[in-house]
Amino acid sequence: MTLPVFPETYIDLLPEVRAFLGEELKLYIGGRWVPALSGATFETVDPSTGRVLARVPSAQAEDVDAAVRAARQTFDSGAWHLKLTASERGRLIWRLADLMEAHAPILAQLDALDNGKPVKKAQTVDVPLSADHFRYYAGWTTKIEGATIPVSTPGMFNYTVREPIGVCGLIVPWNYPLLMAAWKIAPALAAGNCIILKPAEQTPLSALYLARLFEEAGFPPGVFNVLTGYGETAGAALVEHPGVDKIGFTGSASVARTIIRNSASTLKRVSLELGGKSPNIIFADADLEQAVVGATWASFGNNGQSCTAGSRLYIERRVFDRVVEGIADEVAKIRVGMGMQAEQPDLGPVVSGDQLNTVMGYIQDGYASGAHSVIGGKRLGGALADGYFIEPTVFVNVQDSLKIAREEIFGPVVCAMPFDDADEVLRRANETPFGLAAGLWTRDLATAHRFAAKLRAGTIWINTWGDTDAASPFGGYKQSGHGREMGKEAIDLYSEVKSVWLRAD
Ligand code: ADP
Repeated sequence: MTLPVFPETYIDLLPEVRAFLGEELKLYIGGRWVPALSGATFETVDPSTGRVLARVPSAQAEDVDAAVRAARQTFDSGAWHLKLTASERGRLIWRLADLMEAHAPILAQLDALDNGKPVKKAQTVDVPLSADHFRYYAGWTTKIEGATIPVSTPGMFNYTVREPIGVCGLIVPWNYPLLMAAWKIAPALAAGNCIILKPAEQTPLSALYLARLFEEAGFPPGVFNVLTGYGETAGAALVEHPGVDKIGFTGSASVARTIIRNSASTLKRVSLELGGKSPNIIFADADLEQAVVGATWASFGNNGQSCTAGSRLYIERRVFDRVVEGIADEVAKIRVGMGMQAEQPDLGPVVSGDQLNTVMGYIQDGYASGAHSVIGGKRLGGALADGYFIEPTVFVNVQDSLKIAREEIFGPVVCAMPFDDADEVLRRANETPFGLAAGLWTRDLATAHRFAAKLRAGTIWINTWGDTDAASPFGGYKQSGHGREMGKEAIDLYSEVKSVWLRAD
């Protein structure tokens, strides 16, 4: 295929990236590169320019079936979890992390082209965090232990072991293409599973490149497979397939509901990391300078395309105007531009034309329901008119009941709302079907602890926002998910417990 034409302002593509985009890209199944059996392909687009980057295979049910057979065969043969020692598995995962680091500039360019994010951010944040994730779980392979249980039957010896679940279908979104894949692949591998990864149709490139690194690292064929394709076809077929033992999903609540319905016939294990409408509460006694910067990036980091975006901003009334003004000043400094442009922006475009329409729809709805924007509110034109760029937008005069204050927008939009006292804001913060993250800014220790205890969310950030670490569990209360990723919890998520009884007298 001929290469797309890139704008002159773009950083030069690395030769490896140029070659990759010029190739006929294939699915990775059972250690082999194969086209979709039907020959179907789809285009992946650069959201900074609206131009087609590459054509990738569009996996259909028969390709899913082939991948499941390959993964199943490898799993059942024990080539990964039985024939290699835990230490050998750990070493392979570590080698993969080394290769990711060595190929960081390539992986970063692929994510920046496909997702639109600034390439410098991809290289300094997404890729190193992904590699770190693999290193953390490389260490876990040798530490997955059972327990001896003091059962009350005389003469009985009872112990537990943790075993892999089997074949895991991992379905990931487009907001952090490589990192979201790493969050799932690393613990699933460490626990001894075989994997079929389905990246989002908007951002398939880094997943295909990652498969090359698996190959180079020397993983047994069939341990890691990649199917590019649409959610409704490849994703749905993976969910329904009886040969898949577990689905790990990150994405929207509506797709999660479909996944739960479609997994009912096989009753496979399902873990879900979903969205949020996270409350971020600023008390008047906080270090307001720190809170202003923190709240700005809680709202607009990754263009608000984060499940943990602090998109409901509650500010104590007596400092409301001052804080909103401070945030508007911070937002005015944010440079929005193309992810690959030489002069790196702070934020890129939103991921697709569909996402642009969704976010702009919410912004129109905000205006129509009486909210005012203190800054932002428009699609960006001029040199950015071909891409999907939206100004970071801060709304005030927002009631809790408005759609923009209740629904996840997944774009650069925040609602700032005043509050008068702690009990009131706690109640309002928890009045949501979501429960992924919540945070507060205060110098008062008692308030910090009280809110940490009473906010109903899987992660609480106090005088900070957005921190994650491979060692710290992450996931949602309520409709924000099932299960916890990262930390020891993710090993539990990707393993079964077996209880063994032995008559010992
Ligand atoms: P978003 O709304 O952020 O695009 P989605 O929840 O639609 O997120 O998509 C997240 C992932 O789920 C993507 O990989 C997508 O292809 C996949 N997906 C979408 N629909 C389905 C489905 N019906 N079954 C399985 N996977 C799906």
